[in-house]
Amino acid sequence: MASGGPDHPVTVSEVVLLPGPEALVAPAWLPWTERVRAGDLGVGDLLPIEPDDPRMVPGYLGPDDTAAEQLSPELGLGRARVLSRDARLELARRWRDGEWGPDTETARNAPGPCATCGFYLPLGGLLSAMFGACGNELSPADGQVVHAEFGCGAHSEVEVDTSPTVPVAELVYDDAQLELVSPGSAKG
Ligand code: SF4
Repeated sequence: MASGGPDHPVTVSEVVLLPGPEALVAPAWLPWTERVRAGDLGVGDLLPIEPDDPRMVPGYLGPDDTAAEQLSPELGLGRARVLSRDARLELARRWRDGEWGPDTETARNAPGPCATCGFYLPLGGLLSAMFGACGNELSPADGQVVHAEFGCGAHSEVEVDTSPTVPVAELVYDDAQLELVSPGSAKG
């Protein structure tokens, strides 16, 4: 704070001001890599991976997906980086707890799990035992990655009881009323 003397107004140097305990201040700055959340990426946006991103390991260090590792060099499809083991476990947890997991209302009311459904297409590699894609266009999960213990009402083996709910009465003959017809009158 500076004073120009008794005849001059007091001036305040904002450069040295500090917020008090009640002051409204902006949240602490975060690097963009920690700020981006699921759903933030828009059309045309680019999201580069940090060199030390723990979700990625070099492709030659992906020993838990041996089938893919053996096949990819032959096909010329080797990838520079693949998901790390921790990242796969994390995504398995996320998918399991998500909309297509076994703890959902849809799964609890399903006639059977996806693992026994003909529309279930298991994923390859490490996740094959737990996840697959649903290939039933009539299912709400069509095209989604579903947990093997998920299930829906469009399960391929669903059986619906189509027998009538109201019992049909047996055919009743009223033999108390007899109409006697002589052989001659029956002609013509
Ligand atoms: S139709 Fe239903 S039970 Fe079958 S795979 Fe799809 S979600 Fe699972």
